[in-house]
Amino acid sequence: MNSHEHRNSQYVRPLDQSRERPDLRSVHVREDVARSGRCGNVHMATGRTCILPERHHGSCEFVGPHEAEGIAGH
Ligand SMILES: [Zn+2]
Repeated sequence: MNSHEHRNSQYVRPLDQSRERPDLRSVHVREDVARSGRCGNVHMATGRTCILPERHHGSCEFVGPHEAEGIAGH
C-alpha cells in the first residue's frame, strides 16, 4: 500500500522570474508608444523613437522625444 503516491503532484514555482521581462530583453521598445498602436522601436544610439504604425512597411522612422510624447500622451 503506497500511501505517498500523490505527494509529488503539486509543484511550487519560485517567483524569481518577476524581475526580468523576456519581451523587453533583446529589442528596446517604448511600451507607452507601442501600447498606442505604434512601432515604438527605440534607436539605441540616439534614443529616438519610431512612431510609425505597428508592423509598418520599410524601415523605422525615428523622431525625437517630444514627438514621441505626443503619441504616447493619449
Ligand atoms: Zn518602426
